[in-house]
Amino acid sequence: SGSGRAASGGTPSVTYEDIGGLDDELEQVREMIELPMRHPELFQQLGIEPPKGVLLHGPPGTGKTLMAKAVASEIDAHFTDISGPEIMSKYYGESEEQLREVFDEAAENAPAIVFIDEIDSIAPKRGETSGDVERRVVAQLLSLMDGLEERGDVIVIGATNRVDALDPALRRGGRFDREIEIGVPDKDGRKEILQVHTRGMPLADGIDLDQYADNTHGFVGADLASLTKEAAMNALRRIRPELDLEQEEIDAEILESMSVTEGDFKD
Ligand code: ATP
Repeated sequence: SGSGRAASGGTPSVTYEDIGGLDDELEQVREMIELPMRHPELFQQLGIEPPKGVLLHGPPGTGKTLMAKAVASEIDAHFTDISGPEIMSKYYGESEEQLREVFDEAAENAPAIVFIDEIDSIAPKRGETSGDVERRVVAQLLSLMDGLEERGDVIVIGATNRVDALDPALRRGGRFDREIEIGVPDKDGRKEILQVHTRGMPLADGIDLDQYADNTHGFVGADLASLTKEAAMNALRRIRPELDLEQEEIDAEILESMSVTEGDFKD
């Protein structure tokens, strides 16, 4: 971003339709986040506390960020995206200050979701902790979460690839006490992801996504997104060899020539 802030805010425009596979996981996310945010009164009546924090864990590129954005967008919540490593790279004292600002901003714009990617870098397990800075930043995060009112209108979603490396204090009651595993997609999941990413593309007759799903064992969503993008670029090179386009230009050309949204080509 260049602004020097490790955070960006707004309401994203991702929908549940942009997520391939992950039906059960999405169901859980909706129950934990969408329900309390839409109907806080139900939780009050039942006398149960809505969650303050939900942890999404699983390998990189499986759709954790996508899912957090989609739920924020579907409930029209303010969304702030912060990166653990970027927060930690700030100068002395700035990490805590920035966390505080993010939580203030969320409270002012509630309903709001604060998404913390690679949260393990902010809150590593003690022992893996290199020292004082982490201790202060974790303490700040815990106190900010403890300070969230129990109205359920601000929820923190943390994402990590290394759930075991996370400070257990963060996973205790009232903090990130709900966890959802976002795993590597199976064949059906891969097919659905391919469907999402080719939705706006003019596919040749006889293209069988089933077959691609069969042949991409081990691919995560991010890999499948690149695969469809590459395929589209190859098609363009073949169809318009005279263009001899640089990568950037090809991206722009594809976006123009096909009714594909820019979001499909990010990352
Ligand atoms: P990281 O841990 O690296 O942040 P992540 O799990 O948050 O990874 P995303 O950033 O959500 O992964 O995924 C990267 C991109 O891959 C998405 O923008 C999307 O294009 C594609 N993608 C990943 N998972 C899915 C999915 N389940 N359905 C559709 N697209 C997906």
